[in-house]
Amino acid sequence: MDSATLQSRLQEYQTTDLYRVRRVLSPDQDTINFSSNDYLGLSKHPELIKAFQNAAEKYGVGSGASQLVTGHYDAHRDCEVAFAEFLQRDRALLFGNGYMANLGVIDALTGIGDEIYQDRNNHASLLDGGRFSNAKSQRYWHNDVDNLKRRLEKSKARNRFIISDAVFSMSGDIAPIPELSRLAKRYHATLMIDDAHGIAVLGKNGGGSLEYFQCSQQDVSVLVCPLGKAFGSYGAIVAGSHELVESLIQFSRSYIYTTAIPPALAIANMKSLELIQKESWRREKLQALICFFRKKAQERAINLLPSSTPIQPILIGDAERSVTISEQLLQKDFLVSALRPPTVAKDQSILRITLNALHTEKQITQLLDIL
Ligand SMILES: *Cc1c(COP(=O)(O)O)cnc(C)c1O
Repeated sequence: MDSATLQSRLQEYQTTDLYRVRRVLSPDQDTINFSSNDYLGLSKHPELIKAFQNAAEKYGVGSGASQLVTGHYDAHRDCEVAFAEFLQRDRALLFGNGYMANLGVIDALTGIGDEIYQDRNNHASLLDGGRFSNAKSQRYWHNDVDNLKRRLEKSKARNRFIISDAVFSMSGDIAPIPELSRLAKRYHATLMIDDAHGIAVLGKNGGGSLEYFQCSQQDVSVLVCPLGKAFGSYGAIVAGSHELVESLIQFSRSYIYTTAIPPALAIANMKSLELIQKESWRREKLQALICFFRKKAQERAINLLPSSTPIQPILIGDAERSVTISEQLLQKDFLVSALRPPTVAKDQSILRITLNALHTEKQITQLLDIL
């Protein structure tokens, strides 16, 4: 497209209320952030910062090459070993980020003649993985195990893949993972779960949605854990069998053809993992704040969705109205993002409120009073 074509497309898009501008934040602003995914408040933890700084001094900033050339350090290896043990999987592999992990896993495990079944509300990175794959993709109704079953019954493919978010990033509800696992076994499908919003938050030890449901590697063979959310860091872990991880090292293009994640981030991720286990008060406080938020919102007749996770969206409907409310909240120093189509369905615009362990009851009460 030439720039005149781009310009006219942009102008047309601007008339739709959907045009996005990036909000610039700076570290010395004192807005209260109710839209971050840093659910445990770890990103600014002094020990985490120190570990990252020390590692950068030792290893430098960049890794200098891809994992299969000269970018794979002891820091990466140690990080993978620590995560495999924590997640009780045979092995783990550290990717650059969650988006690349999802593309890379689907790429490496699926091919011509295979079938992919995705929850229709899955994260864009999973849906994109399906688009780039040579396998045929279909989307089943959200969290609807019967709908998925009917689709699997008709399948004639040799290999089937069921893919779901564990905690849905927009609505905060949790997938019926044990039922998905039963279907996967019954129809000889591979089950892949993306636990971006559950890892470190759910489960007594922070083991995420699979600890919460007590699902082993036999129940869920591919587990993806992005580390940019509750880990307060960056990167992503894929965990499962030895054969899974070896296959990814051989065949996953988004693992192979990219500069290795900086070793200092691998060290930071290990430190974060340690803090998650050691400081369980963060998870407990977060759970208490979630209950507090829901109780106080219900007292004020605010329209909540059925979510027990830190993602507590408020349904507004109209896209323009959700933006106006978000702007008004910002004037009072509350940062709450409005999510509009195409991120959510038409007329389903929401205020995506997320809670974290460093919020106070007072801040929550203030937010709800303004709303
Ligand atoms: C954020 C997110 C990702 C992407 O992870 P990044 O590390 O940010 O690239 C993948 N899946 C889900 C469900 C997410 O919420």
